[in-house]
Amino acid sequence: MTQLELARKGVASPQIEVVAQQERLTAEYIQQGVANGTIIIPANTNHTNLIPCGIGKGLKTKVNANIGTSSDFGNIDTELGKLKMAIDCGADTVMDLSTGGNIVAILRDIITASSVPVGTVPIYQAGIEAINRHGAIVKMSIDELFAVIEEHASNGVDFVTVHCGVTQSAIARLKNQGRVTDVVSRGGAFLIGWMLYNECENPLYEYYDRLLEIAKAFDVTLSLGDGMRPGSLADATDRAQIEELLIIGELVDRAHQAGVQVMVEGPGHLPLNQVEANVQLQKSICKGAPFYVLGPLVTDVGAGYDHITGAIGGAIAAAAGTDFLCYVTPAEHLSLPDPEDVKQGVIASRIAAHAGDIVKGVKGAIEWDVKMSTARKQLDWEEQARLSLNPELSRRVHSKHTSVGAACSMCGAFCAMELVEKYLDISSPKC
Ligand code: SF4
Repeated sequence: MTQLELARKGVASPQIEVVAQQERLTAEYIQQGVANGTIIIPANTNHTNLIPCGIGKGLKTKVNANIGTSSDFGNIDTELGKLKMAIDCGADTVMDLSTGGNIVAILRDIITASSVPVGTVPIYQAGIEAINRHGAIVKMSIDELFAVIEEHASNGVDFVTVHCGVTQSAIARLKNQGRVTDVVSRGGAFLIGWMLYNECENPLYEYYDRLLEIAKAFDVTLSLGDGMRPGSLADATDRAQIEELLIIGELVDRAHQAGVQVMVEGPGHLPLNQVEANVQLQKSICKGAPFYVLGPLVTDVGAGYDHITGAIGGAIAAAAGTDFLCYVTPAEHLSLPDPEDVKQGVIASRIAAHAGDIVKGVKGAIEWDVKMSTARKQLDWEEQARLSLNPELSRRVHSKHTSVGAACSMCGAFCAMELVEKYLDISSPKC
């Protein structure tokens, strides 16, 4: 039985117990969330060294790091290095988006090495294999697509992005809409090309029950991808995006009925003042299913700094109820990220997630800040480093310019906290 089926029967699985401990919540709360679809625990029965991780209502906002080769660059060692960097920096999940080199071997090695849930977009492999076999993605057979999904599931992938909501009706909306950046989802683009060439409905939509059967067999979580996500502010929250979301909402219901865990992917590029509305729309249409946003990036002009534009959107989204943030690295829109880009992206997204958790009232979130502020007031530099997201950076920057006193070199002898403490003569708050 899947986690969802067990939870509906009132059973708290071992994964639920682990998540309850991690989140400092009761197993009953997690079990009820899994049962009603507001919490997911992506945990493939064949991913043996996995430490389960919960995503959803009332839990800490989670961060995903995308790794993987491109057709131009990358090898197994580089990707395993990125995996280690992502986990060391606190990523809760990783997605292997490899499209170059031996993608089957890379995915196998990543699953073996990863203690965090691993996600994939199976149509990438199916598309590449179709090019190798038939000369073009559009020649891919439906059986070949489902064979790759089944291969990923049986190899231990914990969640798969499947763009089931990219239907002919959504494509019609896209054509009528007129966009600046049309389609920016790779998986969405593969499918749209296939559907238009073959004059067929999306096989992931038409044969959704077949997908549900595979997911159920290995307890794979479906991540309903947003092939119509806006890739520029000008295209945000348009009719194509909403058409796809309405279809996805219905597919969430069908997944729940089949006992399959499911989450929903979202934008993309959004102006700041549309972020909250997008979260509310998803939560309402998808009946509280966990929401997984890609950024969102709140401006199109941050190239080189898109981990910052993504973190700004991510913080607003998390505060509004988003459950899961896909990181954005400084290399976004420019090149394949390297391990240092992965580090910057994970840390930026973790800041966004934590900022959201403070607003959500997640257990333990604000206490972390109080501890940091107390250490700051006490001029306890080692404790500040220990509590920071990047202790090594904290120590390095602090020691860059030394100060004669206990304060840092920013204000030196005129440290406001030191000066005022002398006269206030009160002790620091205890946390
Ligand atoms: S010297 Fe200035 S910046 Fe440094 S701890 Fe004191 S008040 Fe803060």
